[in-house]
Amino acid sequence: MAGDPESFGGFRAVKPDDSPRFKLKMMKYQAIPSAVARGECNRYYRALKRTARSLLSILPFERLAVYGFSMDYPTSCKVEFNPKSDRNQGDIAFKSSDGYKIFLSWGEMKKVEKFRDADAHADYSLDRIRGSREAKILDVKRERRRANGHLASFNHVKLDLIKRGIFFNQTKTPQEVRSLHLHCENTSRYFVIYGPATPPQSEKQGEVITKMIQSFICHN
Ligand SMILES: [Zn+2]
Repeated sequence: MAGDPESFGGFRAVKPDDSPRFKLKMMKYQAIPSAVARGECNRYYRALKRTARSLLSILPFERLAVYGFSMDYPTSCKVEFNPKSDRNQGDIAFKSSDGYKIFLSWGEMKKVEKFRDADAHADYSLDRIRGSREAKILDVKRERRRANGHLASFNHVKLDLIKRGIFFNQTKTPQEVRSLHLHCENTSRYFVIYGPATPPQSEKQGEVITKMIQSFICHN
């Protein structure tokens, strides 16, 4: 309501007025200044925060474009660039407010020329996990997915992360990893989109990574 100080969080919305009613109001406010500041100002800022959140729910994804590639990512993510990144190699982390992370790495094709195709490149990554004492692969599901016209290798891996303690103690933490390996001959670069998640976040992360892959552009 215009002119109502309760709607605008303070005195500024009230025109200077010498009426007895106004003076009485001012005396009341001056008597309890902290209560005014706490109550009304907080109500004002809370209303602003609600508006910001509702805008985010309308626009849950936005586009990141750098070094000639681009993709959509959730607006709720914090985006971190490896400061050593350049056009030829680098990585970006998308950190979700829900706790999962999705990474995008890229590098020069000449470094992965030894692999016949994106599937062989993905096999190499899986073999590295198999060779590690810190993880045990339980299941691998592979799909061929198209990204920007390339045939890419999508893998959904279920594994146990193993933490070894003293003697024979070990603890297992279930984890799911989704990844996409893609070779772009057009720009002589490879791209890997990689996302680990714990089972409670896995479904949501799967939806997000799928949307990121569908929106991914590596060349024009
Ligand atoms: Zn490409």
